[in-house]
Amino acid sequence: MANISVNLSKNRKQIPASDALGFGVHFTDHMLVMDYNLEQGWHDIRIEPYGPVQFEPSMMALHYGQAIFEGMKAFRAADGNINLFRARDHFRRFNNSARRVCIPEIDVEELLAGLKKLLEIDNAWVPSALGTALYIRPFIFATDQFLGVRPSHTYKLMIILSPVGAYYAEGFNPVKIMVEDQFVRAVRGGIGEIKTPGNYAASLLAAVRAKEKGFTQVLWLDAHELKWLEEVGTMNIMVKIDDQVITPPLNGSILPGVTRDSTIKILEQWHIPVLEKQISIDEVMQAGKNGRLQEMFGTGTAAVISPVGSIHYKEDSAVINHGVVGELSQKLFNEITGIQYGTRADTNNWIDTIKVSG
Ligand SMILES: *Cc1c(COP(=O)(O)O)cnc(C)c1O
Repeated sequence: MANISVNLSKNRKQIPASDALGFGVHFTDHMLVMDYNLEQGWHDIRIEPYGPVQFEPSMMALHYGQAIFEGMKAFRAADGNINLFRARDHFRRFNNSARRVCIPEIDVEELLAGLKKLLEIDNAWVPSALGTALYIRPFIFATDQFLGVRPSHTYKLMIILSPVGAYYAEGFNPVKIMVEDQFVRAVRGGIGEIKTPGNYAASLLAAVRAKEKGFTQVLWLDAHELKWLEEVGTMNIMVKIDDQVITPPLNGSILPGVTRDSTIKILEQWHIPVLEKQISIDEVMQAGKNGRLQEMFGTGTAAVISPVGSIHYKEDSAVINHGVVGELSQKLFNEITGIQYGTRADTNNWIDTIKVSG
């Protein structure tokens, strides 16, 4: 594996107080950088002071969107060490995203070693207050200076770190969601199953309109029939009906969430029936009306579990579990965050521990 060179920052920033973190607004002192060209492949893995990047206006990523990203978290464990959650799975998904948009794949073990080194160096930035974490954002973008649609010949990979506050600082807050019956997020055969910036640009207008109407999130339906549940905002969706948990299968337009996978594995270990099968919005609304819809929640790295309090579709709406957090949602949140902070057993080997001294 390549040697990771380190250039330490001479201007250390003030680390914000844990109650003033927000999400994605503060960045640590360092970042990981790596370059790609045709002659050398991925090379020159290094840690540098966090700061601006120079590029020409013709840089391809800006024009044609050839770029991908990941989002994962590290946590301060009770013993002072850093717990990195399912990093290999995130980097493997990073490579799946890379393949789909013709970006050359990275060496997962090399990048993991680089990330661990970055975390050691910016250790002081991993917050320790309840519910806080260090959000990790790896991304790759096309850097050829060229106008014309083709895969770039050069790329830059970066990992930046952002300490984030407790998502539920005031306790769990069930969200009001609106079923989007006009716009779609992704189509099968498209790029919905990878983390690439265009998907998020495509989702903005629907999200803005839903917010204007007083809703927190959009529930996306499939693009072919506008009938089947796909995702909620930038999370995977699960419903509990008749004591069974149902989540849409990974059909090609749904992002394969790591939290979705963690949730399914935990439910199986608890012997709670969980089905990956298509479920229609009509069935969900019907179950909401006749009391069979017990719980509904989104899953994703940022919020972990995000309970849905009410759902609105065309002229119809349904309140779920009286608008309060369901028992299973709470239990799953406690279990996953417990594993992340190291207070519950990591029986699935999801944690990489980074030992830090004093
Ligand atoms: C990232 C993301 C998710 C959740 O994935 P996690 O790995 O659980 O964070 C779900 N849907 C979309 C569209 C996403 O971008």
